[in-house]
Amino acid sequence: MSFFSTRGGSCVTASQAILRGLAQDGGLYVPAMFPPVSSGDVAAMGQMSYPRRALEILKLYLEDFSPREIEEAVTAAYSPDRFDDPAIAPLKPLDENTWVLELFHGPTLAFKDMALQLLPHLTALSARKNGENREVSILVATSGDTGKAALEGFRDVPGTSCTVFYPLDGVSDVQRLQMVTTGGNNTHVIAVKGNFDDAQTGVKELFSSPEFAAQMDARGKVLSSANSINFGRLVPQVVYYFSAYADLVARGAVVCGNPVNFCVPTGNFGNILAAYYAHQMGLPIGKLICASNRNNVLTDFFQSGIYSTHRLFFKTKSPSMDILVSSNLERLLFEAADRDGELVKTWMHLLKDCGSYSVGDQRREWMASLFWGGCADDLATLQEIGLRFSQDHYLMDTHTAVASSVLRQYRLESHDAAPTVLVSTASPYKFARDVLTGIAGAECSEGLDPFACSEELQRRSGIPMPAQVRALPDLPIRHRAECETADMGAAVLREFGG
Ligand SMILES: *Cc1c(COP(=O)(O)O)cnc(C)c1O
Repeated sequence: MSFFSTRGGSCVTASQAILRGLAQDGGLYVPAMFPPVSSGDVAAMGQMSYPRRALEILKLYLEDFSPREIEEAVTAAYSPDRFDDPAIAPLKPLDENTWVLELFHGPTLAFKDMALQLLPHLTALSARKNGENREVSILVATSGDTGKAALEGFRDVPGTSCTVFYPLDGVSDVQRLQMVTTGGNNTHVIAVKGNFDDAQTGVKELFSSPEFAAQMDARGKVLSSANSINFGRLVPQVVYYFSAYADLVARGAVVCGNPVNFCVPTGNFGNILAAYYAHQMGLPIGKLICASNRNNVLTDFFQSGIYSTHRLFFKTKSPSMDILVSSNLERLLFEAADRDGELVKTWMHLLKDCGSYSVGDQRREWMASLFWGGCADDLATLQEIGLRFSQDHYLMDTHTAVASSVLRQYRLESHDAAPTVLVSTASPYKFARDVLTGIAGAECSEGLDPFACSEELQRRSGIPMPAQVRALPDLPIRHRAECETADMGAAVLREFGG
């Protein structure tokens, strides 16, 4: 399988696409075609372990990896000592016609683990295949969740290291503690005296600096990125859509071949794009419901065909979905443009220069045949948490609740009775204060520190607190580095011994 850029250029192998991350012309790598999976193959997955299901899907795309290499990678990534549920991505019943796909059983309690536990193994293998003998050094700027997931994924993976920059006053106490207590002998965490944009700009500058590349090279290191636009993060996400469908068939809840809807809490459009890829490979998906919070740029896009960033940015209770430019949408645009890279390039230039573009009515209708966009604000989100807890005895986090609320709207409007999988992206304990407010009212969390909120949530819900949350207050702090925004390159070099 070869890979092309969404903006028309290059033809690379899977391992090259993973190693490079972004194409030279600024586009995203896309597979030359979508390999078909038959309904018989899907049904057979019902009897397989999760790592085995991953092997079945990954081998279709990663043609320059041997099945043996992929098998070792997925076995290491989705192992019982990293995930606290043997199913890895368990599917749980919510109500008569709805199931929850729980993607938060990994080390950092959010769905990013599904990809970031595997990516480091794919990165190390890709380096080897391309004759890269230097250590692959990952640099990440984080506003919270991605940093910890990347650190946990790359921790102690041979041939790699991971350095995370976070804004000194821009992450929550729990997020900071999660990062600075990370173990492993190849992890580095540096606080930047600035905001998230400063950290992100600094990392981008390091990536484009020949001088910094030479300094790293002199130390036997080459830079790489673990960004969500990397194909190596997308392909592991395709797996759990097949997995969920296979589970429904195996339980007799769905006849193999009949359509199932998926409702996905969306930010950068990576998770739901993987569902679209599964659909293109033949998975019987009826509708893909794209759920946004108050930052509803995608809701408007699916409605009007116009993507516009001329709008206010809101901080919400589902912070991982607070985003105005959803980078992975470019891969859907490529398909909407009938794979015309020049057209995608035009839209992306319009977005950069004018802040908006329009795909036109025909393409909008084409997208609407599969996608439905909706949004929910913070009030609706907290109400949904309360409703699901009292009616269905299910405790969900704020991101999942956005999707659940949007699913309610979709069903009211469409009368679509197809069975639907609600994709759950974070453990409720990751957002314990807001979840507690949702089930018991704001007065119950007032004055409580984050750990007390978790204790109270456990007491009221009866759902056990994950071990990672319980252990956090007692872990030793292992990373204390700080730097000025102008000084990030020197700070990285200091981590590597000057
Ligand atoms: C990253 C994230 C999302 C958004 O996923 P995208 O792939 O960016 O659309 C949703 N929920 C949680 C908890 C996340 O961490």
